[in-house]
Amino acid sequence: MDLERVAQRLAEAVAEALEADGAAVLLLEGGRLSLAASRGPHLGPAASDLDRQVMEEGEVVVVEGGHALPQGCAALACAPLQDEEQVWGTVHVYAARPGHFSPARLGRLEAVADLGGMAVGMARALGDMRAAQAKARFARVATHELRSPIAVAQSLLRTVLKGYAGPLTPRQQEIFRRVAGRLDFLENLVNDLLDLAAGRSPELDLDEQPVLLNASAGRVVLLLGPHAEEKGVSLSLHPCREELVVWASEEGLDRILVNLVGNGIKYTPAGGQVTVSMGQEGEEVWVRVADTGIGIPEESFPHLFEEFYRAPNARRFGTGTGLGLTIVKDLVDRYEGRIEVESKVGEGTTFTIFFPRWRG
Ligand code: ADP
Repeated sequence: MDLERVAQRLAEAVAEALEADGAAVLLLEGGRLSLAASRGPHLGPAASDLDRQVMEEGEVVVVEGGHALPQGCAALACAPLQDEEQVWGTVHVYAARPGHFSPARLGRLEAVADLGGMAVGMARALGDMRAAQAKARFARVATHELRSPIAVAQSLLRTVLKGYAGPLTPRQQEIFRRVAGRLDFLENLVNDLLDLAAGRSPELDLDEQPVLLNASAGRVVLLLGPHAEEKGVSLSLHPCREELVVWASEEGLDRILVNLVGNGIKYTPAGGQVTVSMGQEGEEVWVRVADTGIGIPEESFPHLFEEFYRAPNARRFGTGTGLGLTIVKDLVDRYEGRIEVESKVGEGTTFTIFFPRWRG
């Protein structure tokens, strides 16, 4: 149920339960109280001192007589709307007759306001979840739509570069090669954005199950082997005899390792090495990707997992989007793991990911 309907039902329920002449629900929105729903005329001034007092003290307050009351109202009871997490607002109940709020009625007000606070908290949480889902869905659709024109442009460009559309002058060749390079970058960016959106999508939880880290590492080394070879980097896997089981999705685990091993290859000059090893220790399972590449400057450490961040030495070294490690961090957090990085400029980098060991 959405927040508006929850507030409306609450105003009606509280007026009926207390046989009152009117009721209003006020909710905090960006730090300010505003009227969310009312039953009967809404008499009270919004965000009064009374509301502040009730929200601070967390207790019902009754006001009878005096100029603080709105016209036509002889008694007003104000209760906090809260759950265990926080205060969401207040509920006002109005009576035309003094002495209306007997102890029995006030007991009922407390009970209804307690339930109302819980309902408002749940409706807010549901609203936040829906907004996150809609954002992730939008990013996925938008990125999909970007992918296909890039693929078409790449294939047209390949046709031209191979000379199928007629001979090219050396200058034209050079320009088209540069365009092809930028398109490859764009393709990587779109793929990374898609991965980022997918990783943040709550629906991904559905694929989570006990999965074998050994199998994932094997798949990724096989997948990226040709790329390493092409670059003249030696990629090796130190298998582990024990079965290393973690709670994750196969796709997510592969994505983590593709990014780490891919970075290892990218940031290691020809002649260097990238090694993948794994094991378990106590309640944790670990996988380590070590390279003998350019290393990461110390001042870049605090920024490594920020979106679009690239260290200065990497910018000189090759193209990248600065999204890979953000994707890795999102996924590792999702699987309740942690990341350790060790690196020395000019010597190499080691990323170790620890996951809680899954015991069925
Ligand atoms: P990118 O697309 O730039 O590789 P990432 O998010 O994967 O983006 O990594 C962020 C930055 O972290 C890189 O730009 C680079 O500066 C640094 N980095 C990551 N992995 C390595 C590595 N194995 N060796 C050296 N630098 C690395």
